[in-house]
Order: sequence, then C-alpha cells, then structure tokens
Amino acid sequence: MSELAEAPPPKLRLSKPVQQFIAKKRQILIDGKWSDAASGKTFEVYDPSSGEVIAHCARGGKEDIDRAVKAARKAFESGPWSKMSPSQRGRIVAKIGDLILEHLEEFAELEALDNGKPISVARVADVPLAADLFHYMAGWATKLEGDTLNLSVPSTLAPNTAFHAYTRREPIGVVGQIIPWNFPLLMAAWKLGPVLATGCTVVLKPAEETPLSALRLGELMHEAGVPPGVVNIVTGFGEEAGAPLAAHPDVDKIAFTGSTEVGKLIVQAAAGNLKKVTLELGGKSPNLILDDADLDVAIPGAAMAIFFNHGQCCCAGSRLFVHEKVYDQVVAGVAEQARKIKLGPGLDPSTEMGPLVSTTQLERVTGFLESGRRQGAKPIVGGKRHGDKGYFVEPTVLVDVKTEMKVYQEEIFGPVVAAVPFKQLDERLLTQANDTIYGLAAGVWTRDVNKAHAIAAKLRAGTVWINCYNVFDASMPFGGYKQSGWGREMGHQVLNNYLETKAVCLAYPDQF
Ligand code: ADP
Repeated sequence: MSELAEAPPPKLRLSKPVQQFIAKKRQILIDGKWSDAASGKTFEVYDPSSGEVIAHCARGGKEDIDRAVKAARKAFESGPWSKMSPSQRGRIVAKIGDLILEHLEEFAELEALDNGKPISVARVADVPLAADLFHYMAGWATKLEGDTLNLSVPSTLAPNTAFHAYTRREPIGVVGQIIPWNFPLLMAAWKLGPVLATGCTVVLKPAEETPLSALRLGELMHEAGVPPGVVNIVTGFGEEAGAPLAAHPDVDKIAFTGSTEVGKLIVQAAAGNLKKVTLELGGKSPNLILDDADLDVAIPGAAMAIFFNHGQCCCAGSRLFVHEKVYDQVVAGVAEQARKIKLGPGLDPSTEMGPLVSTTQLERVTGFLESGRRQGAKPIVGGKRHGDKGYFVEPTVLVDVKTEMKVYQEEIFGPVVAAVPFKQLDERLLTQANDTIYGLAAGVWTRDVNKAHAIAAKLRAGTVWINCYNVFDASMPFGGYKQSGWGREMGHQVLNNYLETKAVCLAYPDQF
C-alpha cells in the first residue's frame, strides 16, 4: 500500500492544538502548578473507536489528594479568592464560559476522541452547554442573598429587648468532586460552575476513561483568572484517587456523579468527618407513549431518549411503555430509527453514534444483551456488538420483555431499550412506571395536556419531559428521587449544595 493510502482519512485528522495537547504527558493541577503524580506513575487513555492508546496521564493517589486538599484549603482561607468580591468572581466564571466557546472546536475534538461521542453532537450539545452553565452561574455569584427575619421572642422572656436577625449564605469550604466519563466536559462544568459562583475551592477527580477535556479546562480556568489553589485537578483511578478524596478529613463536602453502587461507597467514605454529600446516580427511566401521542414526534423522540450518547445517560429512557393501540407502530418506528443510525468513530463528522467508552462497558452491555436473550427478550433490531474493532454496540430494541428480567430492572447504560405494551392509562401503569429503585427522569408523549400534567405529578422522578426528552438547561434542576441521588445539579437549587446558611441574631434595647 502506498503511504498515502495508509494515512488516516483527512476528516479524522486531529487539529494541531489537540495533537499537541495529547502528545504531552498530562499532569495533575495543584495550587496552579502542573506536576507528575507523587508516585511518578501514569495511566493510558484510549480511543474507544479503535482501542488504541492516545495519551498518558499522571496517576494520582492519596499523597496527591492530600496536597491538592491542602492547596484548596489555603486558597479558601486566605489568598485572593477569599477576598474577591462576588462581582469579580462572577466575571471570572463568565470568562470561563467565553473561553470554552472560543475553544469549541478543540473541546469537541477532545470529547469525540476520548469519549467516542460524535463530534457533530459535542459541537452543538456538550461544549455549548458547558459554556452556558458557566454563563448562567456567573450571574448567581452576585445574588447569593440571605433573609431578614421577624422573630417572635416573647417579651416575658426578653423584656425591653428587640432582635435584628438575618441569614447569611456562606461558601461551604473545600469541596471534592468526582465525575464520570459520559459527558466529561459537561459534568466538569456542572460541578465547577456552582463551586466558583459560591466562592468555594475544589479538588476535582475526572473519570480515568476520559480525563482530557477537564485538564484542558483547567488550563483555561487559569487564563480566565481563577487564582492558584481554587481549582485543583487530580487524575487517576476511583479507588486510588477518588476514595481518598471522598474520605478526606479536611474536605467539607463531596459531590459525586456516577453509578449508584459507587455512590453508596462515597456515602460510607464521607461518614468519617460527616462531610456533606450530594449524589447524582443511575436511572431506569420510564418513557410513556399514550395512544393520542403525535407519533411523528414521539417515535423519533423515544429513539433519541435511549440512543442519545449511545444510551450512556443516567436519564436514558430505557423502559418504553407504549399503549397497545400504537405499540406495533411505535416499536417498528423506533427500530427503523435504530437501523438508520450511522455508527462510526466520534471524530468522523458523519457519525451519529460512536463506540461505548471502554471494554468494561462493552462487556457490561453485551452481558445484558446475553442475559436478555437467555431470559426470553427478543431484539427486533440490534442485539450484539458491532464489528470487532473498538467498543461499538448496535442500537437495540427489545420486545417480549418481562418485568422480572434484568434488562427491564437494571441500568444497562448502553443503547438498549425495553419496549412494554400497556392496555390503558391507569394507576397500575403509573405504579409500574415508578416500580424501580431509581427516580431520575421520565418521559410522557400525549396531545392531552391535562393527562400530561396529571402523569407528571405522579411520576416519582426528578425530571419529567413532556413531548420531548433529554432537554437540559443550566436553569433547570436535575437530580434524582430514591436511589438516583441526593440533591440537585443546575438551576439555583445546585447552589444549596455549596452554601451553608448562617443565622445571625443581634439583641438591642427596645427603649429610648
Ligand atoms: P461507571 O460504573 O459508570 O464507570 P463509576 O461510578 O464507577 O461509573 O465511576 C464514576 C467516577 O467515580 C469515576 O471518576 C471513578 O473513578 C470514580 N470512582 C470509582 N470508584 C470509586 C471509589 N471507590 N471511590 C471514589 N470514587 C470512585
């Protein structure tokens, strides 16, 4: 073969900045400086579309976490950050959003390469949403207000005395944040935006599968004016770097996004110093299509609900309940959508679905497909690995699903939907929709606005989408009921995760 023929097709070639970024061993960010891990160890980062190594990162451990927490503590207690006005802080947060947009193409490439998601999606979803989160949070920096309170202390208890009482909202302190690999940049933004708006300091541990975009963001944060020690980033594995962060006695709060299984470990680790905990965990979200739904909207919507990001969304609409009158049409329609999805490497601009993120995920998802088959579920489209290179799985629609099957009950975190018919909209259906340990999200498709709101009120889920799905906005709180988590991300609600409320009460003589 000629040299030319062996060269990668031009559309998959990386831009200069990304090539340079991944060519260099990526280090840990502590106190504004980049350094190797204390152990000197590194780990490999893979391209999930080929399984090839694309970068090397410092493999952080307990010693690095200790150093990072110390830097975060110092930056919280003293130094420019602690003295900065809310307005100055807000401007820095807004600048981070601006810089993300200026580097949109670079971030989109990093996400496509590292996570495997289609670059066409990263360009219009992950990267602009991350920028928007910072822009939204920037405004909150100046609006963290307390209340003045009218006390009712009886004069018999405090004669001739009046009180002036008020609350202050104060930053919680040093925060530890552990994030997953499904939206590497966006999850970093969801976590870091409110930390900076509230004046906290942080140690962030990105997922070992996808550390690159968070590290690039760390560089831009300093360009935006974030002082040293305010944002520290320690790359490494969950047990080596995540666990000591969750257990650290000088961390005031831990925020985690990931599996429910690891969420439970985080809670245990946090118990040592009773640090505050918020968790954004798994889901097995019900998506309900009623017989009066506009199927031209509901069918592609139900397909997107499960296949977006290859089903690697904690809120994926993975249990599709369809009225029996339209069941065949919907299932055939979603299967048709699945058939049309073009699989390929994330960097290929024509790719609509990339690979799963890792061999572990490939094994997990194909394991579920196998278990579904054994238990009698039938894939009407997909149902297996795609090709033998990279971690691709075919978009899959399962029918003949029974409620006791693993594919119905457990989170698959892949492009696999279980379709289930229902006879009528009644309490039984809603009980079935709610019959899961999770409660992150749900979808309803109907033309009847009364039914839509009545169902939305009865679904035990943190988000209910009506005639849409996977709509995210910085202003809309996101989080779970039941074992899908504690607390909310985004919206003004997320600020509560990073603020303490202090009540101040002053007594003064009530006489002249
Ligand atoms: P998934 O199963 O989807 O890969 P995980 O919940 O395992 O998701 O991982 C999410 C994040 O949690 C990652 O950053 C990972 O390194 C981290 N993590 C995994 N195990 C632990 C642990 N025992 N303690 C703290 N963090 C962990």
